[in-house]
Amino acid sequence: MTKPFALALHGGAGVTPGRDYRLVEAHLAELAAAGRARLAEGLSALDCVDWAVGELEASGLYVAGRGASPNRAGVVEFDASIMDGSRPRAGAVCAIRNVQSPIRAARAVMELTPHVLLAGAGATDFAREKELPEIGNDPAWFRMPVGVEQADIDAEADMLSHGTVGAVALDVQGRLAAGTSTGGLFGKRPGRVGDTPLPGIGTWADSQVALSCTGIGEMFILSGGAGDVAARMRYGGEPLDSATRAMIARVGELGGDGGVIAIDRVGNHSFAFNSGGMKRAFAGSRGPTEVLIA
Ligand code: ASP
Repeated sequence: MTKPFALALHGGAGVTPGRDYRLVEAHLAELAAAGRARLAEGLSALDCVDWAVGELEASGLYVAGRGASPNRAGVVEFDASIMDGSRPRAGAVCAIRNVQSPIRAARAVMELTPHVLLAGAGATDFAREKELPEIGNDPAWFRMPVGVEQADIDAEADMLSHGTVGAVALDVQGRLAAGTSTGGLFGKRPGRVGDTPLPGIGTWADSQVALSCTGIGEMFILSGGAGDVAARMRYGGEPLDSATRAMIARVGELGGDGGVIAIDRVGNHSFAFNSGGMKRAFAGSRGPTEVLIA
């Protein structure tokens, strides 16, 4: 019998009614299908998550990587983290500047240092030292994400609007991994760090579940985020869906909005969100491929 494998993706919580998301839908469908094929061929969950988040960042269709928007000082600062649930091990960067792929910088922290999280100038210097591709001074490198215009960014600068990308995967060897990458909240203060680069909050993977969150990072930090879902499952034996919904309900009680994608060790998936939509996709050995926006 084939061993289960699965991939879930998100392109951020929050959807603006009436906007055309066909490009995003097509992109998520393409990535889900390609990821499914790669996992079926034996790609590891970690490499799959790294690849998928890298593609989401590079597309410019989401508020991460090429789609990221600047902070109040006019500078783009990224947050990202990746976690390999089979060891476990994790790597993360926060308030890093000038890297083309924050998720690759996070993976480099995991694989090339004894640390988990590098911040600010130290993270940016580390990426340069490891010769990770840089953005340089070219503002044209950034693309405005689909559904977001400069006027929205200006208008929403104080309203905690946001966007992020993430991926979670289970490979045929039963290993789980998760990764998340973001430009953070629109109009954030320089140095502001959200949930995305925090293993246990924005990203988590262990031997039973892999999770990636999106939404107002402050409330995910206060709710316990991805780690709360994993703890509900580990200590309380709570089913996956009930655990993800409970965490998102708590985010809502705290006044936040957002969502989470998750895959468990047998390939079940869960999408939970309280935002108006979450761009998301699932593909795996169990069940049909799903691409959903609303
Ligand atoms: N969680 C991210 C942050 O707070 C934003 C998002 O997911 O849209 O930085």
